[in-house]
Amino acid sequence: MTQDIDPTEGGNWKPATTLVHGGTARSMFGETSEAMFLTQGFVYETAELAEARFNGEQPGFVYSRYANPTVAMFEQRIAALEGAEAARGTASGMAAVNLALMACCKAGDHVVAAKALFGSCRFIVETLLPRFGVESTLVDGTDIEQWKRAVRPNTAALFLESPTNPTLEVIDIQAVADIAHSVGARLIVDNVFATPLLQSPMKFGADVVVYSATKHIDGQGRCLGGVILSDEEWIVDEVMPFVKHTGPHMSPFNAWVMLKGLETLPLRVERQTATAKYLADELAGHSAVTRMIYPGREDHPQADVVRRQMKAGSTMIALEVKGGKEGAFSMLNALRLVKLSNNLGDAKSLITHPATTTHQSIGEEARAELDISDGLLRLSVGLEDAGDLLQDLTRALDRVG
Ligand SMILES: *Cc1c(COP(=O)(O)O)cnc(C)c1O
Repeated sequence: MTQDIDPTEGGNWKPATTLVHGGTARSMFGETSEAMFLTQGFVYETAELAEARFNGEQPGFVYSRYANPTVAMFEQRIAALEGAEAARGTASGMAAVNLALMACCKAGDHVVAAKALFGSCRFIVETLLPRFGVESTLVDGTDIEQWKRAVRPNTAALFLESPTNPTLEVIDIQAVADIAHSVGARLIVDNVFATPLLQSPMKFGADVVVYSATKHIDGQGRCLGGVILSDEEWIVDEVMPFVKHTGPHMSPFNAWVMLKGLETLPLRVERQTATAKYLADELAGHSAVTRMIYPGREDHPQADVVRRQMKAGSTMIALEVKGGKEGAFSMLNALRLVKLSNNLGDAKSLITHPATTTHQSIGEEARAELDISDGLLRLSVGLEDAGDLLQDLTRALDRVG
């Protein structure tokens, strides 16, 4: 195997270049496109070689639950983009989040997280961790004083996503990182909504970054996957034992899809972001829209944090329509181009009604606390023509009320 671009030289390359070449390891055949190594195990020419692989004297692969050449290419490519020392691919975004928290905590520790979390992330923090003796406190992520008050000497991890799902609040990563480090805790950032191109949490002090690769990294709605990025020492000492012994590692097939997805990620994110900004601006004035939330607009509640921390407003829009659930449903049912789906980051534009889908189970009180009204809709902007999308959305909004 030969290595295409040494990830240690990654700093010299712009993201678009890193995403095409980073991490490529060519086999003896010299293939142009990355090979898919669909293999569970690896063979050794001699017994001595097997022994050397197992005691670490000779680098190389031993079993795909631990590591696999195609998955390694994906890991090195995204690590080079993120500017992280190391990465591990996981079977899903949730496997990455769970791994990050498990690797940080032991019984007796404490975790602080922002309330506005992806549903399953909130379940891990609120329900699962306490079962194993890890207490958790939920705070309003945009209120820095609440983070300060919540940390304790035994706090092991702070956890947030920004922009948040589904109301697209933006949390000041640097401020939360400083609080984490003041008590010796790690800050974990779920960077899915921003994508690695529009926000680099590690530049603002995050210790661990996680992605659901299912979203923009695949970008065409095919495979589930995730990734956890951090410093080499922590990944080797704390994350690898979980990867090896509990089995959340990414499959080589999915890694190959994600690896190819990374090549076109900048093109897709740029276009989808430009269209999202255009739609947010055009639709903000529609008479059926009572609130337009887009991090790339000056009227966003945390516009100053967005300017410091993000390169652009991302591919996601949240909007509130007149008439509560009835208004929202009449709009959704009038759409022809934009599809109703709770997924995001796809080439196809997808819209969802959080109150009755992704955030149905948390109950009315928790929804009110998170500002998820019955008229709120979350739109993931795809790759369709911007004019066609505007036409479809406007026509549907015209039906409201
Ligand atoms: C989708 C998502 C996840 C979970 O990812 P899966 O790949 O579906 O497991 C976690 N966090 C955020 C912000 C997400 O959007």
